[in-house]
Amino acid sequence: MKITLLGPPGAGKGTVAKALMAYDGSVQISTGDILRAAVAAGTELGKQVEARMAAGDLVTDELIMSIMEQRLQEEDCQQGYLLDGFPRTLPQAQALKALLQKLGEKLDCALELDIPRDVIIDRLTTRRTCTNCGEIYNVKSKPPRVEGICDVCGSEVVQRDDETEEAIEHRLEVYNEQTAPLIDFYRDEDLLVSVPTSEMEAVMEAIKSRL
Ligand code: ADP
Ligand code: ZN
Repeated sequence: MKITLLGPPGAGKGTVAKALMAYDGSVQISTGDILRAAVAAGTELGKQVEARMAAGDLVTDELIMSIMEQRLQEEDCQQGYLLDGFPRTLPQAQALKALLQKLGEKLDCALELDIPRDVIIDRLTTRRTCTNCGEIYNVKSKPPRVEGICDVCGSEVVQRDDETEEAIEHRLEVYNEQTAPLIDFYRDEDLLVSVPTSEMEAVMEAIKSRL
């Protein structure tokens, strides 16, 4: 399966991607995780994107496309992939379409998690993330076994810089302005599958009936 996951920050794209990955062996490719790893490692790329990410602004389409053009041609992508957080703008969606055409591939569907705004805000303010492996926790519904320590890898679990209330409001605005138009784009491409939940049973059912 080659799927892109659409939906506002906090919709559950990462969680859904991990579950789908376990189901069919596709790899999850999260541009957010790739960029956060670069920031944590202090690479040249990381230095370039750090300030924009902390403010909740998107990094440039050129930068994202140069990362993804390489990433999508790696060996592990042959089995299929779940794109999490990409494409994020219309130019990225168009560039992805052109890239896949060039590679003789295409997306199977764009899965939209259509989650209400109040649910999103509540989820994001209570979300915590492992600084090392990206595992996602929630202080209310899924705390780590030991406070502040990742169950999976033992590294520190923190609230992301861009998950303060103010940054979240801004990210939702950025989503509405720059990413929400992709829903129409993929509807026109006849690839859109919308589910009103990130609950796995409903998501799997929608995908299976589509594929
Ligand atoms: P979210 O939880 O908002 O889905 P991500 O982890 O996907 O967050 O992304 C975090 C940040 O990384 C974004 O706010 C943005 O600065 C940057 N980013 C990730 N993916 C992209 C992309 N495809 N285009 C531009 N910027 C991106
Ligand atoms: Zn971890």
